[in-house]
Amino acid sequence: RERAREILETVKERDETRRGVEAMELLDAYGIETPQGEIVDDPADALSVAEEIDGNVVMKIVSPDILHKSDIGGVKVGVSNEDVYDAYEDLITRAKNYQPDANILGVQVQEMVNLDDGVETIVGMNRDPQFGPLMMFGLGGIFVEILEDTTFRVAPVAESEAEAMTKEIDAAPMLRGARGADPVDIGGITETIQRLSQLVTDFPAILELDINPLVALPDGVQAVDVRLTVD
Ligand code: ADP
Ligand code: MG
Repeated sequence: RERAREILETVKERDETRRGVEAMELLDAYGIETPQGEIVDDPADALSVAEEIDGNVVMKIVSPDILHKSDIGGVKVGVSNEDVYDAYEDLITRAKNYQPDANILGVQVQEMVNLDDGVETIVGMNRDPQFGPLMMFGLGGIFVEILEDTTFRVAPVAESEAEAMTKEIDAAPMLRGARGADPVDIGGITETIQRLSQLVTDFPAILELDINPLVALPDGVQAVDVRLTVD
């Protein structure tokens, strides 16, 4: 909790800067697992980070002006070490084409999560003027707005309620092993809902926080993308 407080103070001081990283660190401080990775601002550093990670990596543009990275081709999945330089330049070019004066903070190089065995979910919080901190759980990924398969509770959320949330969405059978797939770690999801609910309860300065996707795997969960808005 002390670490989370320090991280949040840094976020405020730095304004928009590197907010993605701080959001990841915040989750880490509350015991929510995130993929290995770093944000860098030149291609040589991108390669060093990629070399430290097993297998191919994911590379993403980091800019406070680009909210939906994949919409502008700002997420590259399965990048081999040989392709890191090209991928880096291409991400920067795409960002500049999208918005010439975009504030580009760098590129995030991240461990790849195996989506074949996983389900992309979303766990988020929005402060509602009437109800307070509203926790959301649902089917995640880049089509979340279209599918709108979500359910809500006011934070703090008890374990039984968090578990109920995982049963309420239309896609619930997908989590429990539809069509011969392995069931995902439901306990990991409910724990994440509770931990996030605790975090936003402890820190009213967090106005909005979305983990999308929280990839639910048979043996755990990984917070792959986080969006944070602070007061
Ligand atoms: P945005 O939501 O801004 O478009 P994300 O970081 O959520 O950017 O990436 C978009 C999609 O790319 C994810 O929903 C997921 O399908 C895929 N993706 C992102 N990061 C990873 C990763 N580390 N491993 C595997 N797939 C990923
Ligand atoms: Mg996302």
